Amino acid sequence: MIDNLLKEIGTPQTIGITGHIRPDGDCVGSVLGMYAYLSNVYKDAKIKVFLEQPPMIYSYLKGYDLIDTTFAYPGQFDVFIALDSGDIERIDAAGKLFLGSKKSICIDHHVSNTGYGDVSHVAPDASSTCEILTHMFEDEYMDVEVAKALYTGIAHDTGVFRYSCVTPETFAALEKLIKYDFDGSKITDETFYQKTYVQNQLLGRTLLESILFMDGKCIAGYVDRKAMEFYEATPQDFEGIVNQLQMTKGVEVAIFMYETGTLEFKVSMRSNGKVNVADVASYFGGGGHVRAAGCNMNGTFHDVLNNLSLHIERQLEAL
Ligand code: AMP
Ligand code: MN
Ligand code: MN
Repeated sequence: MIDNLLKEIGTPQTIGITGHIRPDGDCVGSVLGMYAYLSNVYKDAKIKVFLEQPPMIYSYLKGYDLIDTTFAYPGQFDVFIALDSGDIERIDAAGKLFLGSKKSICIDHHVSNTGYGDVSHVAPDASSTCEILTHMFEDEYMDVEVAKALYTGIAHDTGVFRYSCVTPETFAALEKLIKYDFDGSKITDETFYQKTYVQNQLLGRTLLESILFMDGKCIAGYVDRKAMEFYEATPQDFEGIVNQLQMTKGVEVAIFMYETGTLEFKVSMRSNGKVNVADVASYFGGGGHVRAAGCNMNGTFHDVLNNLSLHIERQLEAL
């Protein structure tokens, strides 16, 4: 675990920062928050951010335009930091740069994270990686750009301060951040609540065609390739659908999946707490948190659903 982040980082000349594939709000917030913060600390260092292209909704964050999506870098970094990624596979192409650096640091909050890199700081009780960073960062080097990024990440991973992962530590972090002059509700409106017309159509369609099973304890919905092509949908367009499915009375587990290739699905699961979906996802090679997890699976929608149901049912029966 890290006691003093700046001591741990030392006095590097080059710093690389990355997060997980298909970056979400906490990933983008923690990566760009770290970028803005370290830019204030290490004025002469070369700091580079490597990340899969994040959605345009995050373009108000400092450093967004400087993100390197090619992952091509010929040299070795003095320090390389991976954020919000439960395992090294999920930083994808940045893994090589991370492992090849003089010092690799991982900061994360996934319960499935067993630690990787030279130094690893995993706090599964933290709502978000941005919450961890807010407590780690020193006031002296904070500014409004850092605060906006960290606020974005906390808002996204807590469903705008609603989920059970919210603790007094979360609000203590928010207290530190909202002292800075920025419009928090504009951030949550424009990056969390607002949907494009296509996103709302996909949500409506998925809800209409969803199936309720296991005595109403499970709900599942999916979008296949044909529908994705028809709506010209990208994976970002599915953000939030699984959470809406979960808000069905009586449901313990909500499952959403979309087809990533022929008979290949990206699965998202949400639980109300009785079922540990991180365990289910881990069994199929994925990971996440007790109440929010994901994995990639092969087969038809019904094959995948049958496989998942077996594990969910087993957990429900054991209660
Ligand atoms: P999602 O359902 O994609 O919003 O993801 C929910 C949580 O599970 C996030 O914290 C992800 O980091 C994690 N997660 C999703 N998919 C995977 C995967 N294939 N492998 C490991 N963790 C995942
Ligand atoms: Mn994330
Ligand atoms: Mn996170």
